[in-house]
Amino acid sequence: MLAQGSFRIVERDAQLQSTVLATILFAMTLDQRIDAAAAKVESKVIDCRRDIHQHPELGNRETRTSKLVADKLRSLGIEVRTPIAHTGVVGLLKGGKPGRVVALRADMDALPVTEQVDVPFKSTVRTTYNGQEVGVMHACGHDAHVAILLGVAEVLAGMREEIPGTVVFLFQPAEEGAPEGEEGGAYLMVKEGALDNPKVDAVFGLHVTSRYAVGEIAYKPSSMMAAVDSFKIKVHGKQTHGAYPWLGVDPIVIASQIVLGLQTIPSRQVDSSIAPSIVTVGAIHGGVRNNIIPDEVEMIGTIRSLDAHMREEIHARIKRTAVDIASSGGGKADVEITTGYPITYNDPALTESIAPTLKRVSNGSAQVVNAVLGAEDFSFYQQKVPGVFFWVGTRPKDQTAEQAASNHSPKFFVDESGLLLGVRALAHVAVDYLTAK
Ligand SMILES: [Zn+2]
Ligand SMILES: [Zn+2]
Repeated sequence: MLAQGSFRIVERDAQLQSTVLATILFAMTLDQRIDAAAAKVESKVIDCRRDIHQHPELGNRETRTSKLVADKLRSLGIEVRTPIAHTGVVGLLKGGKPGRVVALRADMDALPVTEQVDVPFKSTVRTTYNGQEVGVMHACGHDAHVAILLGVAEVLAGMREEIPGTVVFLFQPAEEGAPEGEEGGAYLMVKEGALDNPKVDAVFGLHVTSRYAVGEIAYKPSSMMAAVDSFKIKVHGKQTHGAYPWLGVDPIVIASQIVLGLQTIPSRQVDSSIAPSIVTVGAIHGGVRNNIIPDEVEMIGTIRSLDAHMREEIHARIKRTAVDIASSGGGKADVEITTGYPITYNDPALTESIAPTLKRVSNGSAQVVNAVLGAEDFSFYQQKVPGVFFWVGTRPKDQTAEQAASNHSPKFFVDESGLLLGVRALAHVAVDYLTAK
């Protein structure tokens, strides 16, 4: 009897405790619950980032990372669709109430870079890339992106009943580009229906960077990162002796004029007050010997633009410049332009609607910054649905931006105390978007 009675007291105590807990949780706003849950997953996010950092995989080869992501999502009771776009994973978290559909994105691929950062979880992985033996490193911080988004998934899964709508988690391969001859990345995710069924209404993503310190967020409405396109120009001349150039057509001199001519496109031919642009010749090949004028010269380069109309203008002017300069010298130029990633374009209205959230989670540090001429394949999602991309600082606070190694450097370092802000930012942005009237 006595034993039974004390059992009952214990039972009642437990009931009371859970009632108290439920009351506290109920009294906490969704905002406070997100922050509490984010703080709770922080150490898991850091552990996960280290695990992925130590096991980096190149684009379209992220099999281990992909399995880790799918297993974690399933353990949280999140519906998983995989494989998509080779090694991609899409997670679907249906909230307890009806509402819109918001997607959050993380990229999973590493780079052919040999790590020079001295951390206990340093990558020693080596592989073959384009026929060359290379080291593999998460030198762009995509390991942090995966860990952050899994953290967000855990936070939001813990409060799914309160979420009005659906959260789609996009874990995509190959942001840095697919291997030669393969499709990949955000382009393929979109093509294979990552934003359909359920139809996504808005997409958000972040990138860690050493340009900004821990605790800082930066973004820009409209064009934030450039479109990237590449070109190949073949200049055809007529081979002859180096001592008798008048007997042939010198493609090296023509190519040299074209290199200079191309530089006048950004500086003299397009309206640089609208947006900056870049045309870079990255390689030039021609000739075999000092006294032979060759038949042909080939050059390749990259084009960066921040304005869709200007992008087309630049393409047309590159063709005109090369073809007309070649013909003025009696030669011929063939120009091939291959379009790459579109402009990373932050929908202005959507950016404005989430700006207060970014300000709030970063204690007022979130700032509007200049666009950069780097590119991001997040832009393919933004071509389909309105989206916002933003920077999250992971530079140690005692370093200046100039001292810190940039993304893609073998010395790129992520200060992990900045990851929590990434988790909070994406979780709050998603919930604020879904609960907005
Ligand atoms: Zn990168
Ligand atoms: Zn990146």
